[in-house]
Amino acid sequence: MQFIDLKAQYQHLKHNIDQNIQTVLDHGKYIMGPEVAVFEQKLADYVGVKHAISCANGTDALQLCMMLLDVKPGDAVFCPTFTFFATAEIIGFAGATPIFVDSDERTFNISPEDLDRQIAQVLSKGKLKPKAIITVDLFGLPADYKALEKIAEKYNIPLIEDAAQGFGGDINGKKAGSFGTLATTSFFPAKPLGCYGDGGAIFTDDDDYANMLRSLRVHGKGADKYDNIRIGINSRLDTIQAAILIAKLDAFPTELAARNQLATAYASALGGKNNLNIPYVPKDYLSSWAQYTVVSDDRDDIMTALKAANIPSVIYYGTCMHQQTVFKYLADQQGHYPVSEKLAKTVFSLPMHPYMQEAEFNQIIHALTGKSK
Ligand SMILES: *Cc1c(COP(=O)(O)O)cnc(C)c1O
Repeated sequence: MQFIDLKAQYQHLKHNIDQNIQTVLDHGKYIMGPEVAVFEQKLADYVGVKHAISCANGTDALQLCMMLLDVKPGDAVFCPTFTFFATAEIIGFAGATPIFVDSDERTFNISPEDLDRQIAQVLSKGKLKPKAIITVDLFGLPADYKALEKIAEKYNIPLIEDAAQGFGGDINGKKAGSFGTLATTSFFPAKPLGCYGDGGAIFTDDDDYANMLRSLRVHGKGADKYDNIRIGINSRLDTIQAAILIAKLDAFPTELAARNQLATAYASALGGKNNLNIPYVPKDYLSSWAQYTVVSDDRDDIMTALKAANIPSVIYYGTCMHQQTVFKYLADQQGHYPVSEKLAKTVFSLPMHPYMQEAEFNQIIHALTGKSK
């Protein structure tokens, strides 16, 4: 059994994917070929934003946002401590100081209350300048944007939505990737919308930001591509990856429905089991189920039993950002993160993908409950 079955997905979509790749091989425009612009338009339409700017990966997408906002030494950028490393890494790479924020106990997403507290604290210390907030739609569930956008407004700092996992999720129909001033996503193969290599994108409604980002991703180019008007990076989405993503985006709504069906089936089979908490989805929220993450004090025993039954399960994440060796130097500037630390000790993720067979699902439920479905 696969944790995320990319081979089964390829078998389903093979015809269109192969055809789209062949088209690129035939025209030979491997860098910034026509598929890149086609994909960007489809992506912007899907998310419901004015601009989607593709780039080489989800980490670069965040880094380009740091460059755009001129994040630099002396700046504080706020992000959850319970996330994938890239979210915090790009803050450090910009020379700024990451200020970590604790999680909400039920959603695992950034806690708006703790965010407010952390920003107020940085302001009262007066050493760093609050420059941006990065929120994460962890495991596919959009963060609490109603509360978060209010905080961003209150302190007048831009909010960046890291929707690497959240792509496809929504709140009341408003899609992940459309919150905040800027939003980013990743097309790493295992993400909800993945390509066959690395890829990423940035979303914004702001025309000036979009123009700047299009320049920054190609060496800071000006209107004349050999006149560089700023320092940028080389971070383009390959044409072949765009061609694959066009085929995958067409299939995405059906896959998203299948992921949600699987989540519902998990919930009805596992809900109310006393040593396991199933994920919580607030009313009006839709998750893209990048991961199906459960919580248990008996994590080790349960994962051992799953392994014995040949069922893969993975811990996302066992180490918070404030616990990372590279960020230990920040220890006395940071707060306490009881919720995130508890999550790091108790979470693990079960197989989740749109092509799971019923027999596989029954096997997982049997291993977890001792019961056949
Ligand atoms: C995967 C991921 C990224 C980075 O994406 P890459 O394409 O692997 O660079 C950033 N943030 C989060 C939350 C992620 O899950």
